Amino acid sequence: MINMVFLGPPGAGKGTQSTKLVEEFGIVQISTGDILRNAVKSGSELGKLAKKYMDEGKLVPDNVIIGIVKSRLQQDDCKNGFILDGFPRTIPQAEALDDMLKNELNIELTHIINLNVPDELIMERLTGRRSCSKCGAAFHIKYNPSKKEGICDLCGGELIQRNDDKEETIKKRLDVYHKQTAQLQDYYKRSGKYFDVDGTGDPEDIFERIKEIVK
Ligand code: AMP
Repeated sequence: MINMVFLGPPGAGKGTQSTKLVEEFGIVQISTGDILRNAVKSGSELGKLAKKYMDEGKLVPDNVIIGIVKSRLQQDDCKNGFILDGFPRTIPQAEALDDMLKNELNIELTHIINLNVPDELIMERLTGRRSCSKCGAAFHIKYNPSKKEGICDLCGGELIQRNDDKEETIKKRLDVYHKQTAQLQDYYKRSGKYFDVDGTGDPEDIFERIKEIVK
């Protein structure tokens, strides 16, 4: 069973590696960032609220995010295993997660994987990141370019840059990461299920490192 938390700075490759884990192990990915971006797209109340924070590189309030994750984890497809990608990001979120897993869902986390990538690399990764506006597939203008510029290899959709992948916003997101999220490493180190993984290099090599831990 894999019930995983993926830690790491924005641009560490959590989304890319989650996609590979989903394919290999048939588990579900719960990306709070994706859920919020879909809400923004749909124009819902949640989307309107979240957009303000996201565009500024700030965190959406804990109570909002915790509610979203709680209802997602209650769905049946999580019973075969899940990856939390981008949650928790603060100590109160981690505490709320512990509480809901133990007292309401009766589920235990099996792996906390922390993807390590130095800040210098993050900027290059995020400014070059593009994703398909239709199917969400991920590309990079230098490291993983699409065959036709601006067009998705998989579905032919248009490739776009995320609103928050602009240099100024990336700096803010990294700052938020160091101030509020990095301390989760110490929080989870006590669990005995915490693993540091080198997040630099070829995505396939990084995936092998992760598979060594979870298999
Ligand atoms: P991500 O795609 O994980 O980089 O998330 C994009 C943005 O969504 C973040 O910069 C936050 O504004 C918001 N967000 C995603 N997950 C969380 C979370 N767990 N707590 C607070 N805000 C979040």
